[in-house]
Amino acid sequence: MRMKSISEDKVHVVGIDLGGTSVRVGLFASDCTLVDTVTFKTRVSDGPKAVVADMAESIRTLERRHNVAVHTIGIGSPGPLDLAAGKLLQLPNFPGWDNFPLRDELSRSTRCKVVLESDANVAALAEAVMGAGKTYNVDSLVMWTLGTGVGGGIVLDNKVWRGCNDMAGELGHLSVDADGLHCSCGGQGCIERYASATAIAQAGREWFQRNSAKVAGFDWETITTATMADLADQGNSGMLGIFADVGARLGFAISQIVNTLDVPLYVVGGGVANAWHLFAPSLLSTVEKYSYVYRLGKASNRRPIPMIVPAELGSGAGLLGASLIARAQ
Ligand SMILES: [Zn+2]
Repeated sequence: MRMKSISEDKVHVVGIDLGGTSVRVGLFASDCTLVDTVTFKTRVSDGPKAVVADMAESIRTLERRHNVAVHTIGIGSPGPLDLAAGKLLQLPNFPGWDNFPLRDELSRSTRCKVVLESDANVAALAEAVMGAGKTYNVDSLVMWTLGTGVGGGIVLDNKVWRGCNDMAGELGHLSVDADGLHCSCGGQGCIERYASATAIAQAGREWFQRNSAKVAGFDWETITTATMADLADQGNSGMLGIFADVGARLGFAISQIVNTLDVPLYVVGGGVANAWHLFAPSLLSTVEKYSYVYRLGKASNRRPIPMIVPAELGSGAGLLGASLIARAQ
């Protein structure tokens, strides 16, 4: 019996995860498994055309390695985006890239059909189709991605809900405190200012400054959510308090969305979700306190209880979601 070659398995979908630091290009098989990837540094300062050329070269490399022809490419990009026009708008970490027609330029360079979508939306789609949504057998969810910033995505009936301005799911800018910290979006008290990795590390540094606390061998000036979580696991009351506050604030934001949408599943992803065990207790108790819909769901034997869980797919969600959005077209 001869082995089936990959080309016979109709490998033809590529997903691209465009980040401010690196770009990942992944070749996917027809059963959605990742066959191979190419990763390269994002040459932001060389301009978008140079990065599109790098993407096209990576796709050619994957085609050569596996003897396949790619027809469709899905790309997840930071926003804001004009999805109808396939353009980037004013991306905070990509100076000089304003209004770049990424979809059409990549299509021209590769002669492939290209589908552009926001990175948070593709991650949410991946969780819905292949992650927590699959585990819990539901096809609608809302996902928060707690990273450098806070992103969000809404998937209804296994389709991304984009809204009329392609801006649906800006869940990082839900305000949890009308008089709270000012945010770069122009708002105040946005959850991004409390639950992003950036905000949590800032809270950690401030705690050490306020308390003049010394932890042997610990460099608090280079603190990260991971090192803060380690300290919390060792019983550091300051770090435990910060994660409890993150959970309470995120729980308040989630409670409002549970009351609004009543979808069955709410997912928390991104690097901060590695500390799920530290912030989940206050998150869940806060949702229960503020969401009537959550309480009724819990009290009823008939209704499904709205589930709030950590993401399952980790950092590969963006790449997988990009391939899924290509496949759906
Ligand atoms: Zn904001």
